[in-house]
Amino acid sequence: MNFHQYYPVDIVNGPGTRCTLFVAGCVHECPGCYNKSTWRLNSGAHFTPEMEAQIIQDLNDTRIKRQGLSLSGGDPLHPQNVPAILTLVRRVRAECPGKDIWVWTGYKLEELTPAQREVVDLINVLVDGKFMQDLKDPALIWRGSSNQVIHYLR
Ligand code: SF4
Repeated sequence: MNFHQYYPVDIVNGPGTRCTLFVAGCVHECPGCYNKSTWRLNSGAHFTPEMEAQIIQDLNDTRIKRQGLSLSGGDPLHPQNVPAILTLVRRVRAECPGKDIWVWTGYKLEELTPAQREVVDLINVLVDGKFMQDLKDPALIWRGSSNQVIHYLR
């Protein structure tokens, strides 16, 4: 998996203070996409074991308390990202007690494959669906267009 940005302290992408990772790779090609540079899977930089360890360490850093981890992109549930994302969310669940995980994807919850579903079974919140320009509403929180749904899963 490749990624574009990692913010160790972020107050914009999800509730509270968070760690946020923007991964590379998205097949949805939504007109008006705010993050076109992330579409190619091989764009950005390689997501290394060191980066994974850094995220775990940041989530457990008691000097700046984080509510959890946000995974966006690109699409964290792009089939080629799923193995690395699954490893990461498993580690967060096992090693970062009390931290929540939010994931943004262009897929709809009901159309996920069993592999994508494995990730979703471990997270707290899924914001799903493509960005649709004609349903864009700047007043919406945590989503860009009104077709997207915030699923509170646990
Ligand atoms: S799902 Fe997100 S990243 Fe992918 S094309 Fe749509 S808006 Fe852009």
